Amino acid sequence: MTDAESPNEALNDLHERVSDQIEELESRTTTPDTDASFADTAQVTAELDEQRSLTAELRELLDDVERALARLDDGTYGTCEVCGVEIGDERLAELPATRFCIQHAA
Ligand SMILES: [Zn+2]
Repeated sequence: MTDAESPNEALNDLHERVSDQIEELESRTTTPDTDASFADTAQVTAELDEQRSLTAELRELLDDVERALARLDDGTYGTCEVCGVEIGDERLAELPATRFCIQHAA
């Protein structure tokens, strides 16, 4: 028994959660809503835009998670992609998929 999840477990959990969220968002945005014509179209459009940008953000995160898993494989996980410094356990616990140290975080 360990207190903390291994990075591998944390990343796989995150991957699963984010994939599920994307799937859910996409099923919402692609389901034709027959009542939409009666709703406030501007509001519907705004909501769709928001869902789309959220989906795009989640896809980026998923991409980061996949990269992090690949880096775990090649042994470079946990170091900043810009300066190569160790990212640190505390930051990784919070953001397991991060590729950058705190100085180089976007
Ligand atoms: Zn850095």
